[in-house]
Amino acid sequence: MDARNHDGLNQEPWLWPTQVWQQKLNRVRAGKALKPGKWKGNARLAVALSFDSDHETSELRNGGVSFGRMSQGQYGARSGMPRILRILEKYAVPASFFMPAVSAMIHPEEAAMIVAAGHELGMHSWIHESNSRLDESTERELALRAASTLEHLSGIRPVGMRTASWDFTPSTLKIAREMGLLYDSSLMADDEPYELLEDGEPTGIVEIPVEWIRDDSAYLAMDRTVGARPYGAPLMILDIFRRELELAYDEGGLFQLTMHPHQIGHRSRIFILEEIIRLAHSKPDVWFATHAELAAYCANEAGLAAASKAPS
Ligand SMILES: [Zn+2]
Repeated sequence: MDARNHDGLNQEPWLWPTQVWQQKLNRVRAGKALKPGKWKGNARLAVALSFDSDHETSELRNGGVSFGRMSQGQYGARSGMPRILRILEKYAVPASFFMPAVSAMIHPEEAAMIVAAGHELGMHSWIHESNSRLDESTERELALRAASTLEHLSGIRPVGMRTASWDFTPSTLKIAREMGLLYDSSLMADDEPYELLEDGEPTGIVEIPVEWIRDDSAYLAMDRTVGARPYGAPLMILDIFRRELELAYDEGGLFQLTMHPHQIGHRSRIFILEEIIRLAHSKPDVWFATHAELAAYCANEAGLAAASKAPS
């Protein structure tokens, strides 16, 4: 089924009655701004670091045919994660790790280690599947199974999700509401947190927005089999992330970053993470938070009902 025509309409977009494009537009949309006057502890800047621990699942979801790509994913768990966890520990910085359930089943010790170190473990699909290829009941079943699997492996039920490849369907928000999630982190309508609207109705779910600009994958995901091989030099990536952070500080806002252990974790790249943390640390009034802590703080400040879903 063509994702454009999930409502069964076969008309070309320029033939749609106004009501049709309005309905599509309003299905999932940014609502109330949730940037508080001040961040926790009177901080001027909130820093939310995240790592999508896809590991082998980014190849498994495509059929698991390339052992080369699966070994690249395994590198993320074997070599990337220890470096990342060491740096986070060195600077006493909390982070959020979004893990496909299958990745957590392959690396249960990693899921346990993340939680033991005080970091957050969030949902990131079942096997890094593309949601837009699923029907609603399959998407729901996989989301529920993913949450239960992470809870079983880590002892803590996730309160937030990031869809694989940030692939969001007309059912994704509905499923997140049914699951009683505190937040999502897959959409891009703002630099600052906001409340998600479903069909124009406030949902109480906090969006911690992402952006490809602040994602290492956009610069580093080399695929040998395609003509275009995006590649960004590490210093260029650091410069982009640094500028995002500096202006977030000037604006008293949020600096959110998405990284992947099998990409940022390499010897020639891991310094980007350390430099960004050092830059944030060099400023006097910075709050480092997990996505869950950030979402709970925003929900609480705005008086959203979701605030009660914060992890204890
Ligand atoms: Zn991912």
